[in-house]
Amino acid sequence: MNILAIESSCDETSASVLANGHILSNVIATQLIHEQYGGVVPELASRAHQQHILPIVERALTDAKVPKNELSAIAFTRGPGLLGSLLVGTSFAKAMALGLNIPLIEVNHMQAHVLAHFIDSPKPTFPFLCLTVSGGHTQIVRVDSPLNMTVIGQTLDDAVGEAFDKSAKLLGLPYPGGPLIDKYAKEGNPLAYRFPMSEMPNLDFSFSGIKTAIMYFLRDKTKTDPHFIPQNLPDICASIQHTLVQMLLTKLKRAARETGIRDIAVAGGVSANSGLRTALTQLGEQQKWKVFIPQFEYCTDNAAMIAMAAQFKYEQGEFTEQTVSPLPRMSF
Ligand code: ATP
Ligand code: MG
Ligand code: FE
Repeated sequence: MNILAIESSCDETSASVLANGHILSNVIATQLIHEQYGGVVPELASRAHQQHILPIVERALTDAKVPKNELSAIAFTRGPGLLGSLLVGTSFAKAMALGLNIPLIEVNHMQAHVLAHFIDSPKPTFPFLCLTVSGGHTQIVRVDSPLNMTVIGQTLDDAVGEAFDKSAKLLGLPYPGGPLIDKYAKEGNPLAYRFPMSEMPNLDFSFSGIKTAIMYFLRDKTKTDPHFIPQNLPDICASIQHTLVQMLLTKLKRAARETGIRDIAVAGGVSANSGLRTALTQLGEQQKWKVFIPQFEYCTDNAAMIAMAAQFKYEQGEFTEQTVSPLPRMSF
């Protein structure tokens, strides 16, 4: 059984081939055009997807050494994401499935981030909790089976990836700034500066307050010392990262206590953050959790995770009609 999967929800065009549970290829084209605008420009993103999609799909098939006529199904990200971007992948998948006369499988991008854990071993056992942290989402998900998961906590405003990127922007770093904060934080003192952590009831998060606190902090400091940012960049980055990671882990700890679940996973682009990886590993040892962290390649957007999710649906016979259209706000 061979599945070709396509991911085009935001600013990565990606295609992957999976054969009987194994990823044979995972080709990703990241759009660099957005850097100069300090964020993703939707219209430019869909245009770039149109330019990339055919060569990326061809490369994925060639790398996997699987010819088109040996595919069993075509999977695609139906949502959530940018409408124009999703339309490119969805239309391409529909046309290809129609042309090859094989089934279509729609995949929820956020479920796929969670199911990226089944690409490699060791795999979590059910039920497990997954902290999904990305550019658009911050969720604690209770996963009872591959296709049965529930969001038990989420952000009420900004996503944590957004908090990383917006903080980076305030520091004058290019988009996407999350990985740069991570890089500078490695040489800084995480306790150099303190930012107030918002206290949300239950398992929900809020990241808009901290963004504002950082903005005022930098404004006040640079008023008296114009060189404050360049001279203290590692300490500022380390302190911001420390605060954001603590906010995530406080809620994760609470979720584990309330559910009694000890298999704990992390997924999404921000799970590439080295501060989060280290802190989660330490917390896991302390709490006697089994912690699961995906390979870097499967943290940020990629089609391998779409293929993995699609395989579970294929096994259940969950296929999609040709009349399907994208869902920018798709939930599960
Ligand atoms: P969503 O999955 O919610 O639709 P998205 O697809 O844009 O959003 P991902 O590609 O999963 O998100 O993740 C991108 C985010 O991850 C960006 O905000 C980026 O800054 C952040 N990120 C990536 N690497 C790191 C890192 N090392 N440290 C902090 N943040 C990071
Ligand atoms: Mg992206
Ligand atoms: Fe994503």
